[in-house]
Amino acid sequence: MGYKKPSFIEGIAEKLGIIPNLHKDNYQEFDGDMRQFSDEEVAKMYENFPPPEKWDNWVEYNPKVWPKKEKTTYQIVPTTCFNCESACGLTAFINKETQEVVKFEGNPQHPGSRGRNCAKGPATINQITDPDRILYPLKRKGKRGDGEWERISWNEALDTIAARIRKAIKEDRRNEIAYHVGRPGHEKFMNWILQGWGIDGHNSHTNICSSGARFGYNIWYGYDRPSPDHAEAKFILLISAHLESGHYFNPHAQRIIEGKMKGAKLATMDPRLSNTASMSDYWMPSYPGTEAAVLLAMALIILEEGLYNRDYLENWTNWQDYLKSKNVEIKFENYISEMIKEYKEFTPEFAEKESGVKAEMIVEIAHKIGEAGERFASHNWRSAGASNLGGWAVARCLHFLSVLTGAVGAKGGTSPNSWNKFSPTQPNPPAPQKVWNELHFPKEYPLAFFEMSQLLPHFLKEGRGYMDVYFSRVFNPIWTYPDGFTWMEMFMREDKFGLHTALTPTWNETAFYADFVLPMGLASERHDINSYATHGGTWVAFRQPVLREAARRNGNPVEYTYQANPGEVWEEDEFWIELSWRIDPDGSMGIRKTFESPYRPGEKITVDEYYQYIFERIDGLTNKAEADGFTGQFAALEYMKKYGAYEIEAGESYNMNERPVSEDKLKGSVVDPDNGVIRKDGKDIGVMVNGKAVVGFPTPSRKNEFYSQTMIDWKWPEYAIPQYIKSHIHNDVLDKSKGEYVLVPTFRLPTLIHSRSGNAKWLVEISNRNPIWMHPDDAKKWGFKTGDLVKMNTDIGYFIDKVWVTQSMKPGVVACSHHIGRWRRPQDKIGNRWATNTVKIVNDGNGGWKMNTMSGIKPFESKDKDSKRIFWKDGGVHQNITHAVHPDPISGMHTWHQRVRIEKPTADENYGDIFVDTNKSHEIYKEWLAMTRPAPGPNGERRPLWFKRAFTPDKTEGGCYYITDDKKEK
Ligand code: SF4
Repeated sequence: MGYKKPSFIEGIAEKLGIIPNLHKDNYQEFDGDMRQFSDEEVAKMYENFPPPEKWDNWVEYNPKVWPKKEKTTYQIVPTTCFNCESACGLTAFINKETQEVVKFEGNPQHPGSRGRNCAKGPATINQITDPDRILYPLKRKGKRGDGEWERISWNEALDTIAARIRKAIKEDRRNEIAYHVGRPGHEKFMNWILQGWGIDGHNSHTNICSSGARFGYNIWYGYDRPSPDHAEAKFILLISAHLESGHYFNPHAQRIIEGKMKGAKLATMDPRLSNTASMSDYWMPSYPGTEAAVLLAMALIILEEGLYNRDYLENWTNWQDYLKSKNVEIKFENYISEMIKEYKEFTPEFAEKESGVKAEMIVEIAHKIGEAGERFASHNWRSAGASNLGGWAVARCLHFLSVLTGAVGAKGGTSPNSWNKFSPTQPNPPAPQKVWNELHFPKEYPLAFFEMSQLLPHFLKEGRGYMDVYFSRVFNPIWTYPDGFTWMEMFMREDKFGLHTALTPTWNETAFYADFVLPMGLASERHDINSYATHGGTWVAFRQPVLREAARRNGNPVEYTYQANPGEVWEEDEFWIELSWRIDPDGSMGIRKTFESPYRPGEKITVDEYYQYIFERIDGLTNKAEADGFTGQFAALEYMKKYGAYEIEAGESYNMNERPVSEDKLKGSVVDPDNGVIRKDGKDIGVMVNGKAVVGFPTPSRKNEFYSQTMIDWKWPEYAIPQYIKSHIHNDVLDKSKGEYVLVPTFRLPTLIHSRSGNAKWLVEISNRNPIWMHPDDAKKWGFKTGDLVKMNTDIGYFIDKVWVTQSMKPGVVACSHHIGRWRRPQDKIGNRWATNTVKIVNDGNGGWKMNTMSGIKPFESKDKDSKRIFWKDGGVHQNITHAVHPDPISGMHTWHQRVRIEKPTADENYGDIFVDTNKSHEIYKEWLAMTRPAPGPNGERRPLWFKRAFTPDKTEGGCYYITDDKKEK
């Protein structure tokens, strides 16, 4: 029932008048009514979002003065959440009288999130009202890192940075300009900016995040992300819970539950009993790094028992190339028998020995996957793919199961992400840059799926280059990356980083070492467009600065977003357009033309024009806007400003590889007699399948590549087909007699966001510690109980944490969540006090760094009364800074799992103590570098031409995509 009896305590409190008596008869007229409704009916009432036609004048009672009935009138403006990649819809409730944002709720018009959010969405209100946020542009005073700052104007910042970039470009030092991003948000916007400047200056966080799995998917089918159709699946397999407890959390979680309600079964492979594992039908607590062995065992069962989809394998894999390479007769049956031979060692018993997952469970799940057939949805994002030497092979082996069952691109199966994602058409698109920046894509890692960002400080340390103008944006490598002290060493040197500008909404450990700190808007204070593969459909959403939009609706439009935001908080879109214009004020450098209005020739583009240009090119959007009553040039934009999202298609994007190549395109094309690939003007445009010309996949064979000639051509023949690669933390390499364990440092608590939730009091109140998870058997062996101190020795140092004894951890494995252990030094600007320890950092001048916690979290005075009510004291421990860089030699992915030696601390060692030797970390960088097999590949290529590359440079033969000197030497 919707009505509940009071508890004993409530009853007394009501009688004494401490809280209002809600239970006396006829207390509220509606209260009586509520008792008549079932739980389902009450739940339905809460789905009644304010209808959009009332968004400009929505009246609610003020809950803070309840039971007094005080009405508040709101303007509701949609935007999107910025607290993870999913970009769920939010609606900002703006008090009409005061023009303050009071709360955020879900946006029912958003097709990805459908009105729902995780805890981090509504917590956006904490972030925008955080008393410690940065409100004005700042410039460092004194030495870098000393902690002294002065307020400056936006003009001073823009002019200084623009002059420096102009000089670097004019002196042809383009590779000394870089933009390094943590959480991106806007589709292709930075391609437009940086390629507009003609630089190869993009650096992302992806190699510490997801590039391992991306490589594994890409090598199969030319797409680097999966889009599981959970709601329509019959069987769902997740490699770890990382996705569902942090990434695409809400949109995927709600669809997994829908799938389960329709009868789907869910299996999760994870050494930790995560939230998702606890909701699963099967939990497979595998030893970290052995996931591929389990997946290949399942593949072998599917092959041996004939549970595979013959049509799919025959038509959509390059099996003929595989048999040719083995000199075996080209006959489909031989394909199956050869695969069975390849994987014969992967028996369920072998997989159990490797992983610890019971053989019977492996067999049962393999049968379920076979039975689900095309309706097999699966996902691997960070987790195993991001944690192990060869982690990319986990995603490759997982996709193998989708291929075997024919689930690739099928309804209820797993599609490529790009099929469910919108890509914008931008005004004045710039040409690809003609330079290649080896600080981001060095020769040693030709297959690295993204920039080798984790190695940048080591490259600078050994003199490979210099960063004259460097931007960090929502990016905190000192804290988030492995080996943060090496970053700190380099950031402190002006001969390594000339001018460092941190674009950030809130203080962070990296911004302390910047020259400019420029405040950028949070989710509801900026423009972006978003589109993500949340399900079998495609949508686009519009993140907008809600106070600016409210001002416009109220007849008070502003020119720049910082005029509507708190203080002088700006947004990147307008900042970059303004900066680009100032780099090339008279247009003589050829930069300005990209940033001119498509509607007013020669004039600077406005942010409204930029988005209108994109929105008016989306199929059906203008018609929809006009049907909704919007007229004029900006109808499509007005629609997006009103609703915040548009559904481009509701779920027909299955099997898109089977789309026919148009008659027009086929004119003048030729078909390769060996493999049926259709070519025109030197480009592959499709493939013949069963006598039909279809588009296929963007791989050399236009099919799923079970057999990869690319791996052979690029010097890794041992990985021509899906393989199990033993991780750097495999049991064989750990010395248990010395107390060595594997540390899983990759999971997050679902309520936190990397280093960006320290400004969200509700989130920090829920989760504010990161102890070492340890199984009771291990704890007993060591004599640990919950709360005891433990010293975790890594390759380059140690950190001292507390133990949490829990059965939710696989025996023999320990884990520590990231996102906690934030810090500031006494001299640093106050920030994120809900979550930061105050620490002392001492450098011995010879690579040795010590950090000690001086004080934990304390209540403080501020305009927010809750700041005096802080009850937690423990800010956790910064673990990542004690990890060495471990880049996978193929995918380039940092392999996060750590071999650690567990010890009991000595009497003079304390909770939170950290030590790192950066000389040792540089040695380890070199050890891993020695594992690489450098470019060039065929024809002097730096990278396979068919691989996507972020911010793709010009591919003209002999140009920057080729290593011409090496070619001459060959
Ligand atoms: S899943 Fe949560 S954090 Fe991510 S966008 Fe949605 S509401 Fe925000």
